[in-house]
This record gives sequence, C-alpha cells and structure tokens, in this order.
Amino acid sequence: MTSCIFCKIIEGSIPSVKVYEDEHVFAFMDIMPVTKGHVLLIPKTHRENVYDLTEDEASNLFAVAPKIARALKEEFKPVGMNLLQNNGAFAGQSVFHFHLHFIPRFDETDGID
Ligand code: 5GP
Ligand code: ZN
Repeated sequence: MTSCIFCKIIEGSIPSVKVYEDEHVFAFMDIMPVTKGHVLLIPKTHRENVYDLTEDEASNLFAVAPKIARALKEEFKPVGMNLLQNNGAFAGQSVFHFHLHFIPRFDETDGID
C-alpha cells in the first residue's frame, strides 16, 4: 500500500476533482488553491521530482500542458497563468510525487469569491 497522497488520488482512494486523465497522466484541482482554477498535473507512475522523470514521462506531461492551460483560460478567463514546479523541501515541495502547478492569474484579485 502506498503512503503517497497523490498515488491515492490516482487510485481514487482519496477523492479529488479530476480535470483530465489519460493512460499516463492525471490532473485535478488543488485542494488549497492559490487562485481560482489552480490545477495540478501529475504522472501516473510515482516519481518524486523532476530528477526522477524519464524523457517519455516528461513528454507525456508536457504534451497535455497546453490543453489544460487552454481549458483553464477558457473557463476562468484569467489575465495570465503561471506553470510552476517545486523540487525538494527547500524549494517549497510539500508532496513528494512530481506535480506541475497551473495557477491562473487575475487582475488585483485571486479570482476566488
Ligand atoms: P507543492 O508545495 O509540493 O509544490 O504543492 C503541493 C500542492 O498539493 C499544494 O498546492 C497543496 O494544496 C496540494 N495538495 C496537498 N494535498 C492535497 C490533496 O489531498 N488533494 C489535493 N487536491 N491537493 C492537495
Ligand atoms: Zn505517488
């Protein structure tokens, strides 16, 4: 049994709001969104951080990044968007299963009502 919360989200044993899934990757809403529409994209294979990803895994993740960004842009109408990714506790990583953040940006607000 895995102790990784993101592996549990992929399995469905921890609930999440899924926004995208294919054979290789899973995307879901962040539970504590920095702004409205904050999404996390993860590989289905447990990889701790960017150092552990294979080229194929990295390709599969970034292949869907534009699709997710476009969907968020359409849905939430942000004025900008950050894609960011933390590696190691010192760099701000708190969940040790690789994840790419999509953080829509809004004029002067976080867009959260
Ligand atoms: P990090 O700080 O590792 O780059 O980002 C981890 C992210 O995972 C945080 O933004 C945090 O809110 C999110 N997160 C942590 N636990 C859960 C969870 O159980 N469900 C969801 N949907 N997001 C989570
Ligand atoms: Zn995991």
